[in-house]
Amino acid sequence: MYPVKEHLHRVLDALPEGVRLVAISKYHPAEYIMVAYEEGQRIFGESHEQEIREKHTSLPKDIEWHFIGHLQTNKVKYIVPYISMIEAVDSLKLLREIEKQAAKAGRVVKVLLELHIAEEATKYGLTPDACRELLDGGEWRQMEHVRICGLMMMASNVDDEQQIACEFQKAADFFDEVKARYFADEPDFCERSWGMSDDYPIAVQHRSTMVRIGTAIFGPRVY
Ligand SMILES: *Cc1c(COP(=O)(O)O)cnc(C)c1O
Repeated sequence: MYPVKEHLHRVLDALPEGVRLVAISKYHPAEYIMVAYEEGQRIFGESHEQEIREKHTSLPKDIEWHFIGHLQTNKVKYIVPYISMIEAVDSLKLLREIEKQAAKAGRVVKVLLELHIAEEATKYGLTPDACRELLDGGEWRQMEHVRICGLMMMASNVDDEQQIACEFQKAADFFDEVKARYFADEPDFCERSWGMSDDYPIAVQHRSTMVRIGTAIFGPRVY
């Protein structure tokens, strides 16, 4: 079996205090998750509705599941009853659907707004302008079953560490702007979810509070 335990501890040891690990377990078997669970890891991230549903059903109930993928509005109702956080909200339409389904389920769902900073055209997410527009609209303030807890972003998938650092810094600066303009009185708005297997050492230097790491813990994914 893949040395999940050793790799998990290597990652945990490299994280500064105050940075939490979301162990990204997509495409990895429940046995791998259980190895990390036995070591005390409780936050896991998945990006497909059906896979997270199966794992949630069969694995311990004190796991906090984060949905990290692109979420279609018609899938929201399936994950809302148990999801701890939806990390990649990139439209008002999706936010509205989460509010609707969370109200039905009688719970409050934590979300992050996905910020698009990277140059790659294929990535999802809100540009800074689109993010301001969504927040200026103010509709989110009436949503009692959605709690916006911060921002999530993915840096460009490049080797140029300076470019990556620059993108994380832009995200950190934008976080400060959004915090001051819209969430100054809301302590819950505090999360900066950036950093993956290849770039988390850079992300934590640019004020990440939450890293999403899969490969460096569980090994390569078999699709
Ligand atoms: C798969 C995925 C990760 C983890 O990527 P690794 O390179 O395996 O660490 C992080 N964030 C998102 C949004 C992902 O889809």
